[in-house]
Amino acid sequence: LSDAETADAVVVGAGLLGAATTYELSKAGLHTVLLERGSPNRESSGATAGNIHVQAIHARRPGQVHPADPSVFLPLQIAASDIWDQLETELGADIEVRRGGSFMVAETEEQVAALRAKHNLEVQLGLMTELLAGDDARSEMPLLGPTVVAANYCAKDGYANPLLATPAFLRAANRFGARLYAFNPVTAISRIGLNYRISTANRVFEAPVLINAAGAWISEIADLAGIHLQMAPLAIQMHATERTEPLMSHVIQHVGQGLSVKQVNAGNFLIGGGWPAHGLNLNGRSPISIESMLGNIRQAHRVLPFLKGHRILRVWAGPLAATPDELPVIGEVPGASGFFVVGGTYGFTLAPLWAQVLSSLVRGCATNQDLSQVSVGRLVLEV
Ligand SMILES: Cc1cc2nc3c(=O)[nH]c(=O)nc-3n(C[C@H](O)[C@H](O)[C@H](O)COP(=O)(O)OP(=O)(O)OC[C@H]3O[C@@H](n4cnc5c(N)ncnc54)[C@H](O)[C@@H]3O)c2cc1C
Repeated sequence: LSDAETADAVVVGAGLLGAATTYELSKAGLHTVLLERGSPNRESSGATAGNIHVQAIHARRPGQVHPADPSVFLPLQIAASDIWDQLETELGADIEVRRGGSFMVAETEEQVAALRAKHNLEVQLGLMTELLAGDDARSEMPLLGPTVVAANYCAKDGYANPLLATPAFLRAANRFGARLYAFNPVTAISRIGLNYRISTANRVFEAPVLINAAGAWISEIADLAGIHLQMAPLAIQMHATERTEPLMSHVIQHVGQGLSVKQVNAGNFLIGGGWPAHGLNLNGRSPISIESMLGNIRQAHRVLPFLKGHRILRVWAGPLAATPDELPVIGEVPGASGFFVVGGTYGFTLAPLWAQVLSSLVRGCATNQDLSQVSVGRLVLEV
């Protein structure tokens, strides 16, 4: 007789992707167990900027070698946006979703051409964004500086509070009977008949479905099952100013360089944009880079000169798992029935969508998303 606890599905990793997937699976009636090596929401999903990106993304964060293809992301962003519209009602929780719109700015003619190209793509896909000349953008958003020569406005962009989003999914999943085991690092995965046998330091589970949502550790977890994924961890950083009275309800982004600036409920401005940390530490906090801090802050000061009067209070870094083509990844590993993977970039925006897609895939139902360019098969080196 097996000593293992059984479940319909075991999810590894209690970040936003794991929590949202656990919620959707439990809601669909699957007996779901979520395993987390530490405390939930401590890694990427707790360190994130928390932007809900709906207008097409800029293709390259600072230091990124391969540009991402915004046309693959855009239909997914639009689908995720619709889910974010209903999310607080769905979860019965205030997670500070704010959809105040976003200006993505350009400062050079080359960047204006990039803005125009992405604006055309958005309109083609039915996302109504507005391309504005610099002065028109400044009359809508007077805090923008004189170097801004054009901006693309999307009313659906926004952000949510990352410290509230994952816990809200966990609470909602728990109401559907999901079980979370925190401080239970997965240490071994084997195949017993049609089931995966998943061991942690204290417990053993068996389930026909395993969802690998381990963020920067996604390759490590896949390796335990003999699956080698082409995904590499890295860390990027965020900067927060001291608090001030409400001045800005929009998110400001940059089409040419990584930049996102917003003022959160508490009054702090959060400044990010994917600037690299000073290396990677997956056993603690990755060290921050002074060069990235200076680069990111200088750029924020140029685009939003009023920020010069606001002192930086805190800098932190969070981990990510990047794919060689910088696209996300979702799906069942070919040749490993029941082993699903979900991760990659823009996971905060896409998490509610990915959770619904996984719930459909696990239950053998069709999904209306085109997953051909984000499938896991493209990243599998060996099974
Ligand atoms: C600084 C920063 C800014 C970002 N800004 C944005 C943004 O504005 N918008 C956007 O859409 N995306 C953004 N992202 C990306 C987004 O935050 C991530 O894609 C998303 O949070 C990933 O969630 P996750 O659940 O996959 O990973 P994580 O939140 O890292 O969760 C993975 C979990 O797996 C656990 N785990 C690891 N190993 C094991 C094991 N052996 N056993 C059990 N559990 C294990 C970890 O402890 C962790 O809790 C940003 C990321 C960072 C770092």
